[in-house]
Amino acid sequence: MSVRRILALIAVAALAAAPLVVSEFSITLLNYIGLASLVTLGCSLITGIGGMTSFGQAAFVGVGAYAAAVLSAPEFGWSPWLTVFAGLAITLLVALVLGAVTLRLSGHFLPVGTIAWGISLYYLFANVQGLGGQTGLTGIPALSIGAHRIDSGRDYFYLIWAAVLVALLLVDNLLDSRPGRAIRALRGGAQMAESCGVNTARYRIVIFVFAALLASLSGWLYAHLIRFVNPSPFSLNMSIEYLFMAVVGGASEVWGAVIGAGILTMLKQWLQDLLPRLFGASGNYEIIVFGMIMILLLQRARSGVTPLLARLLPLGRTITLRADAPALPKRVRPRSDEPLLEVRAVSRRFGGLVAVNQVSFELRSGEILGLIGPNGAGKSTLFNLITGTLAPSAGEVWFRGERIDALPARDIARRGVARTFQHVQIRPSMSVIENVALGAHLRARAGVVSACLRMERDAEAALLAEARRQIDRAGLSAHWSVPAGSLPLGAQRILEVARALCADPLLLLLDEPAAGLRYQEKRALAELLRRLRAEGVSILLVEHDMDFVMNLVDRLVVMQFGERIAQGLPAEVQRDPAVIEAYLGGVE
Ligand code: ADP
Ligand code: MG
Repeated sequence: MSVRRILALIAVAALAAAPLVVSEFSITLLNYIGLASLVTLGCSLITGIGGMTSFGQAAFVGVGAYAAAVLSAPEFGWSPWLTVFAGLAITLLVALVLGAVTLRLSGHFLPVGTIAWGISLYYLFANVQGLGGQTGLTGIPALSIGAHRIDSGRDYFYLIWAAVLVALLLVDNLLDSRPGRAIRALRGGAQMAESCGVNTARYRIVIFVFAALLASLSGWLYAHLIRFVNPSPFSLNMSIEYLFMAVVGGASEVWGAVIGAGILTMLKQWLQDLLPRLFGASGNYEIIVFGMIMILLLQRARSGVTPLLARLLPLGRTITLRADAPALPKRVRPRSDEPLLEVRAVSRRFGGLVAVNQVSFELRSGEILGLIGPNGAGKSTLFNLITGTLAPSAGEVWFRGERIDALPARDIARRGVARTFQHVQIRPSMSVIENVALGAHLRARAGVVSACLRMERDAEAALLAEARRQIDRAGLSAHWSVPAGSLPLGAQRILEVARALCADPLLLLLDEPAAGLRYQEKRALAELLRRLRAEGVSILLVEHDMDFVMNLVDRLVVMQFGERIAQGLPAEVQRDPAVIEAYLGGVE
């Protein structure tokens, strides 16, 4: 059994024993920590992991709490065990609508959007007829199991913490899976994930809804615990506190949410006792102290306190590879020498600059085509146009007889086009194998629900085994489990090659893969690319090292100032006066 699992069991045992030994007051405090942990877990999922800042989580707590209060009131008379589902269903609808509207926003518009609907929902709670205005709704029934009323703090403790533990387990399972890797790749931009076939917009909605549901569940528990609701716990202030808890805890481990919720809830309690005595008057002084702590934290420990704790104990997840993993499906390779990629008079303008100007060429299956030219010639832009990362201003791109220039990057990836980036795009905190496995995203189907419930272990084992195979192939075996960010830059480029190979591509686009490699490493890479060609993978290669290029490619296309100035066999191109002019400025 892993240390991680043993510690989890100890934590569960401590929680189970806690009500027997601690005071009534501590139970109440622990209950509030549990309720806040549920919301904070959602917050760190969208903010810490997904990279989207939401200032609206408290409003979803309110949706759950008000649904419970209204539906269990005598007019409706629902059992509290039913109101939870009603609350979650309403939250689901609200979150889908709000998510569809706000998640499209980028940069600081997204947090501002969440503030807007967070405040709107708050005023809705305060002003809609039947919700009791600022005074709120009273007389919410206690939960009961059979004849046993769950109305003591101790009974509630077990209910709340069971919910927290289940939520932690589901999120932990989710993050350690195919959809989880996609979710963890969201942070840091959509470009790389989309080119691996990940529908980033969809996963953003998924975690947004997931977080809203956790908040709503917390609201339901809260309503039946306090048996009274009014709007104030669902205000923007509380949303900020949840966000703060998520930041303090840190998102590198799921239990960071509990740590963050615990620290802030206890600190708030303590400060609310202490500060009025210091200042001799009552007031929300703790907010000021929180603000100062926040600033300190952002300067000293940006990723929260979990990494500090994790350094003391071996808590990290270990990746186990299964020898009996099933194989992933493979593509049928096209016949050799079939037209694969056709670029027809493609142009791309950036404002007044024409980065790619009417470029045409063809790539046949089974060949390695080199694309060379001085810096700024438009090679990387052309890569982006072919792979759907950028849309052409004019011209057409055809792949296997199908026009692809209007398709999103992930649909082009689905057709068997994989790429690397000139400026490496990896997720530094994810391990090498997880980064590489992202490349195989489209070769399995495991979804969010099956990942949460661990019902996709065979598919997951197959993905990891494939990732491991490509890592070995690319020569990174020794580093498969370390964080990708710890690799030297050259090795990170090779990681990108392995990731692209994980897609089982028909066409591989490599943007300066040999930059930063040592001589031996370059030879190994050239050897790998030759082997791939022999297996029927076609390659479009941008590279500045002319020895590397000339010994490897079948044909060359040369660009300068956005235009194609030559193409042909390496020997022909080397003699071409226009090419000599471009490279040497006319000096032989
Ligand atoms: P290469 O890869 O051949 O060195 P690039 O395709 O990166 O060349 O760049 C071609 C030209 O387009 C350069 O002048 C570059 O500054 C410009 N360019 C590339 N991307 C953008 C962008 N997103 N916005 C504006 N200009 C760009
Ligand atoms: Mg470039």
